[in-house]
Amino acid sequence: MFKVENIRKDFPILSRQVNGKPLVYFDNAATSQTPQQVIDVIVNYYSNYNANIHRGVHALSQEATDLYEQARYKIQAHFNAKHAHEIIYTSGTTHGINLVANGFSALLKKGDEIIVSALEHHSNIVPWQMLCERTGANLKVIPMNQNGELEIKAFETLLNQNTKLVFVNHISNALGTINPIDHIIKKAHEVGAAVLVDGAQSSPHIKPDVQALDVDFYVVSAHKMCGPTGVGVLYGKEDWLNKLPPYQGGGEMIAEVTFEKTTYAALPHKFEAGTPNICGGIAFGAAIDYMNAVGFDAIAAYEHELLEYATNKLLEIEGLKIYGTSRHKTSVISFNLEGIHPYDVGTILDKLGVAVRTGHHCAQPIMDYFKIPGTVRASFAFYNTKSEIDILVEGVKKAKMMLS
Ligand code: PMP
Repeated sequence: MFKVENIRKDFPILSRQVNGKPLVYFDNAATSQTPQQVIDVIVNYYSNYNANIHRGVHALSQEATDLYEQARYKIQAHFNAKHAHEIIYTSGTTHGINLVANGFSALLKKGDEIIVSALEHHSNIVPWQMLCERTGANLKVIPMNQNGELEIKAFETLLNQNTKLVFVNHISNALGTINPIDHIIKKAHEVGAAVLVDGAQSSPHIKPDVQALDVDFYVVSAHKMCGPTGVGVLYGKEDWLNKLPPYQGGGEMIAEVTFEKTTYAALPHKFEAGTPNICGGIAFGAAIDYMNAVGFDAIAAYEHELLEYATNKLLEIEGLKIYGTSRHKTSVISFNLEGIHPYDVGTILDKLGVAVRTGHHCAQPIMDYFKIPGTVRASFAFYNTKSEIDILVEGVKKAKMMLS
């Protein structure tokens, strides 16, 4: 097990103050913090390698291209994709989902069915609604229960020969529930449907093996994994990526262009039009190296300890309710104080230097299910500590006293 005091030294931001108090950063599900090792890679890129890639004959362009493509190999190895060209650089999870949704416009017809889950982030709902509008396909929803878990039996009854696609997140950003995606993938494949898994919230906590899962598409954002914003990847099985038409047209994604007809580049470039976030891709590779050096087993075990500690402490506060009580969850606690708006709790916590997220967490259907306007969400990362949780708990008690 790693020593958290040593880990914290890697994150310069953790030693800053907010409102005159040491920062307690518990908004990791929104975005993670960046270690010096990744910051150094970004500084080094702009100091020594900045050039456009895949185009120049000059040395700088070649060096930048090599670093960018090496990072793709790192990402491939991390997710255990069979081929590097199955890793498509994107600007993040939202971009990856939209790329696939757009591609399926060409493959779906009226009467086809697509299934999403009640636990989705808006970015895994809205693109599919738009896809249904374009194609005449119907959207079905896997219901959830009071523990914030998906009703898997109900999912199985939704599946039929018309089901073409299933979309589900690996871990819910609003509640932290870990969904049984291996079972969902297996069942969806039995009726010939493709499965896209939104891995935005799982990739910071576990190391998914896309081949073992047999998942068709898996999407992630670097900024949830100690990397920079504005970059992510879409993993797609080679066969599927070959079937989907390109998402955007432009430079880089072509084989040959004439005014009569354009042919497209091979994978992965077919989906990578325009100048990409070169530095971001390289830094994403560095972030993956960093997280692997810490170790995903150690991260999961330590975060579980934090989750248990915080859950027990928070539940000692009378009138505090936690939403998402599955036994299978990551280090996310969504809660409310009876009769108090989450925004007011969040504002008081901020005055104490504690950063939490308040609101619907881009998952309005979940809030509607619980009939609440939103929650206070504390989400922990491997660089957080139990003493920071004590500060949160004292802050929540103080908020309760001030606002009751
Ligand atoms: N899906 C889930 C489950 C998320 O938590 C998020 C980010 N909050 C997204 C999708 C969207 O990610 P991004 O904004 O990086 O595209």
